[in-house]
Amino acid sequence: MLQRKWLPLLLSASLALALSACGANSVAPAEPSKAETPAPKTEAPKKTETTHAAHWSYEGNTGPAHWAELDQTFAACANGTEQSPVDIELTQTKVDKTAVQVELHYQPSAFTLMNNGHTIQANAAAGNGNTITVDGTDYTLAQMHFHHPSENQINGKNFEMEGHLVHKNKDGGLAVVGFLMTAGKENKPLAEMWSKLPKQETKEDVKLEQPVDLPGLVPSTAHAFRYEGSLTTPPCSEHVKWIVLADPIEVSKEQIEAFAAIFPDNHRPVQPLNQRTVVSN
Ligand SMILES: [Zn+2]
Repeated sequence: MLQRKWLPLLLSASLALALSACGANSVAPAEPSKAETPAPKTEAPKKTETTHAAHWSYEGNTGPAHWAELDQTFAACANGTEQSPVDIELTQTKVDKTAVQVELHYQPSAFTLMNNGHTIQANAAAGNGNTITVDGTDYTLAQMHFHHPSENQINGKNFEMEGHLVHKNKDGGLAVVGFLMTAGKENKPLAEMWSKLPKQETKEDVKLEQPVDLPGLVPSTAHAFRYEGSLTTPPCSEHVKWIVLADPIEVSKEQIEAFAAIFPDNHRPVQPLNQRTVVSN
C-alpha cells in the first residue's frame, strides 16, 4: 500500500503507528473517505496523494459520535444542520406531487467492485450513461454501495440494508438515490456482485462479468421521499440531494448474511431534521 511506503518517512513513530492501523482498514489512497464520494468540490477539496484522511469507523472512539473530532475537515459531522441519514416519519412528511421531480434513466451497466474498508462499493464505468434528472438538472451515476442495517429510517424503523446510488452533476453537486432492502426472495440483479463480495479491503477493483440490471434492481420513483442532506460518511458534506425510494427491494436472508459477515454494522445513526421537511409524492 502506498501509505506503508511513505508514512515512515514523513511521520513520527507514534503517528505512523496510528495511521498504519488506518491503512489496514481504510480507503484507497488516491481518494480518501470513499464511501460516499465523490464529495462536492465546494465542501471537500480532493485530497492529494500526499495527504491522508483520518481513520474513521462505525464503532468505539473512531465511530460516528467522534467523527468530527478525528479531522478538522470532518467538522460538519457534528456542526452540520442538514445531515443524513434521517428518520422519515410518515405523518410528518409533506405530500407534494410536484416537488419530487426525479426521473431515473438507468440501463444494465458494467461495474467493478471494491471493498474500501467501510462498505462494498460498485463503481460505474466512466461514461456509463446512467443519469437521473432532479429538478431539471442531470446527475451521472458514479457508484453504488451498501449499508447494513439501513441508514435512513421510516417511522423510526431501520430496514435490514440500504443501497445508495451516488450521482454527480457537471458542477460537482451530488444526488443520492437510497433504496431500502428487506429480507425476502433472492435478489437476482445483485447475484453476481454478491458472489464476488470482497471480504478484505481491495487494492484493485474486482471485475463483474455481467452487466448489473439497474432497472431491475431499483424500484420506481412512484413513491419516494426527498430531503436536503449530506454524505453519511466523513466529511459529512452537505448540499446533497436525497431521494429515498419508499418501496423496499427484496434480498434473501443469505444475501443479507453474506454482507453482514463482512460489515456487521456500517450505518450512521439518524440525524436531527432541524428545519427540514421531508417531501413525499
Ligand atoms: Zn451510503
